[in-house]
Amino acid sequence: MVSLKEVSSAIKDLKLSNGSSEFGGSGISKYLPVSDPTESFWQTQHDELKDHRSTEHLPEHSDVVIIGAGYAGVSTAYHLTKDHGDATQSITILEARGACSGATGRNGGHLRPDLYGHIPTYVDRAGLRAGAEIAEFEIAHVKVIKKLIEEEKIDCDFTLTRSIDVWCNEEAANNAKAIYDQLVASDLEYMNDVIFHTGEKVESICGVKGAIACASYTAGTIWPYKFILHIIKLALATGKVNLQTYTPATSITPDPKGGFIIGTPRGQIHANKVVHASNAYVPGLLPEYENNIVPCKGICCRISVPEGTTVPLLNNSYINRTKDKVLSYLVPRADGSIIVGGAAATFYPYRDQWYNNVDDSVLIEAAKDYYTGYMQRTYRGWENTGAKVDKIWTGVMGYSYDSNPHIGVVPDKPGQFILAGFNGHV
Ligand SMILES: Cc1cc2nc3c(=O)[nH]c(=O)nc-3n(C[C@H](O)[C@H](O)[C@H](O)COP(=O)(O)OP(=O)(O)OC[C@H]3O[C@@H](n4cnc5c(N)ncnc54)[C@H](O)[C@@H]3O)c2cc1C
Repeated sequence: MVSLKEVSSAIKDLKLSNGSSEFGGSGISKYLPVSDPTESFWQTQHDELKDHRSTEHLPEHSDVVIIGAGYAGVSTAYHLTKDHGDATQSITILEARGACSGATGRNGGHLRPDLYGHIPTYVDRAGLRAGAEIAEFEIAHVKVIKKLIEEEKIDCDFTLTRSIDVWCNEEAANNAKAIYDQLVASDLEYMNDVIFHTGEKVESICGVKGAIACASYTAGTIWPYKFILHIIKLALATGKVNLQTYTPATSITPDPKGGFIIGTPRGQIHANKVVHASNAYVPGLLPEYENNIVPCKGICCRISVPEGTTVPLLNNSYINRTKDKVLSYLVPRADGSIIVGGAAATFYPYRDQWYNNVDDSVLIEAAKDYYTGYMQRTYRGWENTGAKVDKIWTGVMGYSYDSNPHIGVVPDKPGQFILAGFNGHV
């Protein structure tokens, strides 16, 4: 098997050829995943399919070539085989690194629909029904994932829980309450699942020191890497899917005879249709997205306590807006450890550290120490637990200009589809 190092140096040597959408106008490496990413906690339990190649050489042809093996690419393969099996006989997934090595394998594991955080923005832009549809879609997503996990018996530490939004800052708490009241007054049915607390008992309800308001509603948590690797197994088991890891797509050229020729450092593959599921990296092959989908880094970590230490039970997932005006998402795990990330306010001013940046091999300097002592300073009863960060990593999201994903046919490029621009809202 060709090593990642060899692939990386082959990419560096690539020459741009005429007539193809060879990696963007901005240089090949700018939009290619780096070869030595930080390792997330989720990826420490390696899966046998991590470096999988279904065949030694690339197939000559596939009905569909999917670029990227994260949530978007793998679920596309799964649904094409499950729901449209007769129409699609062959699919090849090209993945630049290991399977699920992008944002999906390095996120917070939070399945949290947004019921009211960003919804007023969408309501302002397009009206109440349009805003509500986004919330309803996200709520439906949690239920569908739960059903899929049960049906396919996927071992991925899934929980159906309540997520608690916490505000420790008075102005932000007042704003949140006003938005909550406005959405309740709009008679949105899903708001029945939200309970908003203010007053003296808030701190005891959520356990966060200095909390002024909190709200809870249904959400889920998941081990995203295990989930996606299981879905890949199911897709491969159909016999119609060929997974090629460490095989970046580096060019797409229309074939005069029909379809497309996709170039990689390991040779070419012909496809009738191409699905761009590379999220943050999409502008590499579709330069027209350069201003619309921008790679932006995030940071996440795992906090654990010394063996034998009993910690106060955290039964919910969280979004904490602490007094320092920093927002963090937090997922407690059954093993007593905590996954926590966010802290965007700490690194926002340092754009070179996170904006238009695909380098998930380095931590975000301005945020890398933020979670040291986080549990002790944030949660009641955690002061003497010895909780400390035992794993910290970065990942790259595809921030779209209007925070919405781009899904469908690539404009003016029939036969090419896009499924990208996932910001990963909190
Ligand atoms: C630190 C962090 C925390 C997050 N927390 C959460 C959370 O708690 N909850 C949540 O819902 N979301 C969260 N997100 C966002 C979420 O992870 C993403 O929205 C989601 O994973 C996007 O999935 P995807 O399949 O579109 O992209 P990815 O998972 O990034 O997959 C794209 C794949 O394409 C591959 N690729 C790129 N270019 C090429 C090429 N040229 N050829 C072949 N392959 C290529 C990449 O290697 C990658 O594997 C978080 C993201 C980060 C970074």
